[in-house]
Amino acid sequence: MSFPHTNRTYQIFSKAKAEGYAIGGYCVYNAEGVLAVIRAAERCRSPALIQVFPWTMHNQGLPFVKFIVEAAHSASVPIAVHLDHCIQPADVELALTFPFDSIMVDGSLFSEEENSKYVRDIVKRAAEKNITIEAEIGRMEGCEDGLPDLGLDEILTSPDTVAHFIEETGIHFLAPSFGNVHGPYPPGGAEKWWQVDRLAGIHKAIPDIPLVLHGTHPLSDEMVKLSMTMGMVKINQNRTVRENYMKFIGDNSSKLELTKLQEQGVEIYSREVERFMGVAGSVGKA
Ligand SMILES: [Zn+2]
Repeated sequence: MSFPHTNRTYQIFSKAKAEGYAIGGYCVYNAEGVLAVIRAAERCRSPALIQVFPWTMHNQGLPFVKFIVEAAHSASVPIAVHLDHCIQPADVELALTFPFDSIMVDGSLFSEEENSKYVRDIVKRAAEKNITIEAEIGRMEGCEDGLPDLGLDEILTSPDTVAHFIEETGIHFLAPSFGNVHGPYPPGGAEKWWQVDRLAGIHKAIPDIPLVLHGTHPLSDEMVKLSMTMGMVKINQNRTVRENYMKFIGDNSSKLELTKLQEQGVEIYSREVERFMGVAGSVGKA
């Protein structure tokens, strides 16, 4: 078996794409998040991706990432560990020394042409470390916890240039910008802001490339399923599956001992992840 078939993220996505379900990309910030995703995946017999931002590399460092990778890889179902939105070139360099399965190279700071050259170089170097690469063409609106607000305008992905970009860069997964917003959505929600025809055109131009959906806070189950008919294989989940956990911690942090707070918190977090696995159709697929 040769790269990229040797790569865990690639294997998880290839099977999902072939069998018509999607994988949740669950963004976590703490150990409870890691435990919640693993518990949910094992209970549902579902594959999953655990995702962190460069914030985790800087704030918690290599020992914590090693913990995530070891916990994920020793689960009884396939779980890969992904670094999301690596915006700064220095963070990409650092990430290539960490044991991630895949990295999203976010070229928001670059022009389309610069982005293409930049990403191509990283794809080559990451391949030597058995790491696959997700990239975006264009730029999505909005921000997420742990990411800098660059204050830059949205640039939509053109269906006319995606095939060339894939060929030029050799990326494995593409995050398109088609009106999706890093939450929360403005009034009208995804139903109003998504350019569905644009997404359909992108998928048609590169039918073999798994697409990644960013901007899912909030998103109805119907919109998740609609996106899956247009090539979305990974669906990022950040705030949405964590809200009940955050509320529980807020309401109980001065009432419960820390052990109980963490045990019950992980359980509440896990139930939300399990619900989403049901929506994405990944239950029972591991
Ligand atoms: Zn994102």
